[in-house]
Amino acid sequence: MPNVHNWQIGREMAYPYQAAFPRRQFAFVFNINRCIACQSCTMACKSTWTFSKGQEHMWWANVETKPYGGYPQFWDVKILDLLEKANPGKQTWSAKPSDDRKQPYGKFDGQTIFEAQKMLTPDSARVLGYLPTDEEWNLPNIYEDNPVGKRGVRNELDKEGAALPEHKTWFFYLARICNHCSYPACLAACPRKAIYKRPEDGIVLIDQKECRGYRKCVEACPYKKTMYRGNTRVSEKCVACYPRIEGKDPESGGQPMETRCMAACIGQIRMQGLVKMNQDGTWAEDRYNPLYYMVHVAKVALPLYPQFGTEPNGYYIPPRWVPRDYLKQMFGPGVDQAIERYSYPDRELLAVLQLFRRSNRIIYRYEIKEGAKIYEATLRGRKITLYNDTVIAYGQDGKEIFRTQVEEPVHVRPNKHANSI
Ligand code: SF4
Ligand code: SF4
Repeated sequence: MPNVHNWQIGREMAYPYQAAFPRRQFAFVFNINRCIACQSCTMACKSTWTFSKGQEHMWWANVETKPYGGYPQFWDVKILDLLEKANPGKQTWSAKPSDDRKQPYGKFDGQTIFEAQKMLTPDSARVLGYLPTDEEWNLPNIYEDNPVGKRGVRNELDKEGAALPEHKTWFFYLARICNHCSYPACLAACPRKAIYKRPEDGIVLIDQKECRGYRKCVEACPYKKTMYRGNTRVSEKCVACYPRIEGKDPESGGQPMETRCMAACIGQIRMQGLVKMNQDGTWAEDRYNPLYYMVHVAKVALPLYPQFGTEPNGYYIPPRWVPRDYLKQMFGPGVDQAIERYSYPDRELLAVLQLFRRSNRIIYRYEIKEGAKIYEATLRGRKITLYNDTVIAYGQDGKEIFRTQVEEPVHVRPNKHANSI
C-alpha cells in the first residue's frame, strides 16, 4: 500500500491509493455544547433525500445520545473493539498537541483501520470493518437521553448535583453526517471503484450506475455512513447537498449555500464551509476563514475518532461536562485544550461563535470590528470581560452576507399586540 501523510494522526500511514486532494474541502464544525437533539437536522435530510421506498431505515444525518446510543447500534464500540483486538494495549498517542499544522494533536502510535493487518481477512484485505446486522439499523435514536449515572450504571442518577469539570451523571448528543473524509474508507474498499471524491470540493459520492451493492463500503466505513438499499440493490450515502454547495439552490443567487441539515439547525450548533487545501493535504493558511480559525488557531474544534485514520472533515467542539477519558478516546489528545478555550473564550472566539446560523450562505471570511466593554465578572475564579464586538461575514464573491454583534439585541414588542407583557 502507498504511504500518505495524515496530519490528524501526525504521521505517515498506509492507504490503498496515492494521496489526491481537492482544491477546497467540504468541512464542518458542530458545537456539541449547544445541541438539543430536536432532530430538525435529521428530518431536513430525511425529507430531502431519503423519503422513498427502500430508504425507510436510512438516516444520512442522525443525532444519537452518547455514550449508549448509536446508529447503527454500537457502531463506534464495535470498531474500537476490533482495533483493540488487532493491536492490544497499543492504541495510544505520543507527543503533545503542538502548533505544527502537520501534527497538531501529537502522534498516534496505534494502528488505523487501514493498518490493522492482523485482523484483515483475504475478503476485506484493504480496510478493517464489519457489516452491521439489519436489526442494528432499526433504531436511529436508541437509548435517547439515557445518562451514565452513579458508579457508571445506566440511569442510576447521582443526587449530589453536578459541577464542572466533570458531571457525575452525564450524556450528550452527537450529531453526525458523512465526514467526506480525506482518506475515505468507503472509497478504499470499493472493488468497483464506484466511489469518488470530487476535486472541486472533496465531497465523496457513490456512482449509482457503477455500484453493484457488494456493501464493501458499508463494511469499511468506520462511521457507518454508507447504507445499502434493498430494493435498488445499490449503496447510498450523504451527498453533502451538493447542488446547494454549487450555488444551484433557487434561493442561493448562485452563491454556495450550506447543506439542509446545517440550515435547519435550531440549536445553532452547525457551521459548514469549504476550506482551502495545500498540495500535501494540510489546510492552507486562511486566517479569517471561521473553520480554519476554530480548527487551527483557536483549536476549539476536533476531528471525530481521528485514530481511525480516514482524516474525517467533521470537527466537534467537545461537551464541557463529560469525563475527559471518554472525550479523549472520541476526539483525541486536543480535548483539554479545546474545552479550556471554549470555557474561557477570548474576544475573537466569542465573536466567531456568533457566526453560527445567522445565514444559510457559506462564509469564506470574517472580520471583527471592536465594540464597547459591556460586562465584567469572575467565572470559576477567573476574570472575564465581554465586549460588544461586531462580526461581519463575507461570501465567496467577497460581498458581505451579514453582520452581527456579541450582545444579543433585545426587541421590545409594541403593546398593541394582544400577548405583549
Ligand atoms: S464517513 Fe464513511 S462514508 Fe463518509 S467519506 Fe468517510 S468513510 Fe466514506
Ligand atoms: S437541528 Fe441542531 S440542535 Fe437540533 S438535533 Fe440537529 S444538530 Fe442538534
